[in-house]
Amino acid sequence: MEDVLEPEKKRTRGLGTVTKFAISHHRAPVGTTVPQTQGQAAAPKVPKKTGPRCSTAVASVLKNQKAAPAAPAQKPGTTAAPPKLGGKKPSKRPGWDLKGQLSDLNAELKCYRERTQTLDQENQQLRDQLREAQQQATALGAERRTLEGELARVRAQAEQGQQELGNLSARVLELEERLGTQEGLVQELQKEQLGLQAERRELTTRLEEQERRLQTSEAALSGSQAEVASLRQEAAAQATLLAERGERLHGLEMERRRLHNQLQELKGNIRVFCRVRPVLPGEPTPPPGFLLFPSGPAGPSDPPTHVSVLRCDERRGTLSGAPAPPTRHDFSFDRVFPPGSGQDEVFEEIAMLVQSALDGYPVCIFAYGQTGSGKTFTMEGGPAGDPQAEGLIPRALRHLFSIAQELSGQGWTYSFVASYVEIYNETVRDLLATGTRKGQGGECEIRRAGPGSEELTVTNARYVPVSCEKEVETLLLLARQNRAVARTAQNERSSRSHSVFQLQISGEHAGRGVQCAAPLNLVDLAGSERLDPGLALGPGERERLRETQAINSSLSTLGLVIMALSNKESHVPYRNSKLTYLLQNSLGGSAKMLMFVNISPLEENVSESLNSLRFASKVNQCVIGTAQANRK
Ligand code: ADP
Ligand code: MG
Repeated sequence: MEDVLEPEKKRTRGLGTVTKFAISHHRAPVGTTVPQTQGQAAAPKVPKKTGPRCSTAVASVLKNQKAAPAAPAQKPGTTAAPPKLGGKKPSKRPGWDLKGQLSDLNAELKCYRERTQTLDQENQQLRDQLREAQQQATALGAERRTLEGELARVRAQAEQGQQELGNLSARVLELEERLGTQEGLVQELQKEQLGLQAERRELTTRLEEQERRLQTSEAALSGSQAEVASLRQEAAAQATLLAERGERLHGLEMERRRLHNQLQELKGNIRVFCRVRPVLPGEPTPPPGFLLFPSGPAGPSDPPTHVSVLRCDERRGTLSGAPAPPTRHDFSFDRVFPPGSGQDEVFEEIAMLVQSALDGYPVCIFAYGQTGSGKTFTMEGGPAGDPQAEGLIPRALRHLFSIAQELSGQGWTYSFVASYVEIYNETVRDLLATGTRKGQGGECEIRRAGPGSEELTVTNARYVPVSCEKEVETLLLLARQNRAVARTAQNERSSRSHSVFQLQISGEHAGRGVQCAAPLNLVDLAGSERLDPGLALGPGERERLRETQAINSSLSTLGLVIMALSNKESHVPYRNSKLTYLLQNSLGGSAKMLMFVNISPLEENVSESLNSLRFASKVNQCVIGTAQANRK
């Protein structure tokens, strides 16, 4: 019994080893779980010993069963090794105990069978375990893949997170920078806010002050409003009154013009003033009583209107041979200015006449007399820069400008255009020429301003608008320069020509639609002296004679025109000279005329003085019909 049980014990003890063997023996291909490496040589040793032993034992039993009779002498020591399961047991049975041996073999077989069964069970278990393990492996593989996928996803997320982190860091930096800027700005704004707060406080204080003042003002205003209302009423009343007064003023102005004109007419539309210049330094003093200025009917306070010339004629003698007594020649004019009379005094007398031009009456003022008698002095004045010596032209213009200024307050607007020409030997020359034309006196012609127009104009002459004294001064200076350029050694051309200063005056009262226009002419005539016909005539004198004849002719034409106008003749010989042709619109019916007869105080000029006085007396006797204002 002990021997039978021994293999069981061994089997139980070596189950693990046997199990390993069984697996390796039957399931060699499952090398993955039980590798057949040299290192595991210990495991296979058991089956090698056990396996062959079982089979050998069986074989030997079978062999023994068949060959036993043939080899009964075989030594126990030389027989095949008995199976180790039984230990040394088989060797203990005597050879003849076949039954025992058979039972041993049966027992061993039974043991093997059991073992096989156990191994099969174990095998089945292992297979199940293997399947389970495989299933687990599959599951783990799947789990691994899932995890790998998740890992990849997590990695991707991590990368994205990293990138986002980078972006966020950049953004943080940017924001920090902006924060810095904003902080600076905030500080600035805070500073500004402080400033503004201070300003606000100040303004509040001021506002309060203003409000206080406003309240005071409002109180004053309400008081004033009542006052304003009453003042408005008053103003309205005043405006009505003003309009009425304006109306009346205009009526009065028109009445003044009418009366002024009437006065001028009473004084005569053609007037003659005699002016005797003083004896100049270096000139011989005339004998006492040579020129006398008898007082007027009202005594010495009356302005003189008479002049007497005492003439001693040496050629006339008495029968006794004694020199004939001087002949007294008396002349009477509208006014006589003795040598001491100033320019202002003379102008005062013509100021009213000049003003007639503003009222729309053409005015013509002449200076007649021999060369050196004071014509230019009277018209233009003495040396420049001496205001006392200022002549009629600058004085008349200044007067007109100031009256026009006064009349502008009544709604009148005036404009003035000046021209200044010279008529020499029946040719017209512009005294206001400038540039290359200066002193050349390019061809100027007197023409009608337009077809059917009565107005005359000088072609190629400058017509300069003037509005102040300074402009007039400039023009007079230019005229002087032009005359100086034309002066020749042979003769003083200016004294041999007529200088005509024309001022076109235009006035308008827009409110009443009234217009007026008239020329003011200030004419410095050529010297009226005649050549002594008894003198021997050289070539120069002959030329001079022709020139003088031209002058005399134009002067006598002027006289004839005045006579014809005075006698209301149907034909007035305006065309006989350039001078009368140019002045035709300023002479005659609708015009006012004044002639200065300038006289030299010297005895040597007595003959010419008498000629001038006689000519002027004739003019003085002329009465030209009632003047008509050029009004529309
Ligand atoms: P006209 O033009 O007639 O030839 P001017 O006017 O040239 O004569 O006068 C000749 C000179 O007499 C000039 O030197 C001028 O200054 C002087 N003269 C003329 N009239 C007066 C006057 N009223 N008072 C002072 N000097 C005068
Ligand atoms: Mg002169």
